[in-house]
Amino acid sequence: MKIFCIGRNYVDHAKELNNKVPKKPLVFMKPTTALSYKKKVPYPTFSQSVHYELELVLHLSKGGKNIKLSQAHNHIGAIALGIDYTARDIQATCKANGHPWEIAKGFDNAATLSPMYAASEFNLKSTKFSLSLNGRLVQSGDTKDMIFKADYLIHYLSQYFTLEAGDLIYTGTPAGVGPIKKGDKLEGRLEERLILENVIV
Ligand code: ZN
Repeated sequence: MKIFCIGRNYVDHAKELNNKVPKKPLVFMKPTTALSYKKKVPYPTFSQSVHYELELVLHLSKGGKNIKLSQAHNHIGAIALGIDYTARDIQATCKANGHPWEIAKGFDNAATLSPMYAASEFNLKSTKFSLSLNGRLVQSGDTKDMIFKADYLIHYLSQYFTLEAGDLIYTGTPAGVGPIKKGDKLEGRLEERLILENVIV
């Protein structure tokens, strides 16, 4: 099982971090040990600035290589919400030095995940999701605003990697990212349904 993540996939988020809007998907990965279904999320000891990034996550029901764009939708079995926790201070240093940013993104519990829902229940061309922090709405996304859509991401990734059933794709975060602190409660909603709850400890 692999965990793919897409960076800067929403124009408004790319702009808020003063990044260019990419011409090709920006791809990175997290190790499977970063994945957590638990409500409690320990604040990492090595960062002073951890940010939340709420993302729609694709769960592949079927693998493949060089998957045609027209066939890609057949590979999405389920969707979920996940938070791509990012040590922004460490990431900034990595970016400034032109280094890979794995340690800023791949630490334990840096990829939380909600239960999954059958993709067939949703219209992935426009699925809304949102995050509240201590009861205040901080992020709202709609898959229609993704620069690279779900089908294209599968098609694109499969040119470089053999995809397998069970692989996850974190599809990028909309604007509104920000820091967390111990005691914070984060709630993710898919359409109106509360499906993800994280408490920072
Ligand atoms: Zn992200």
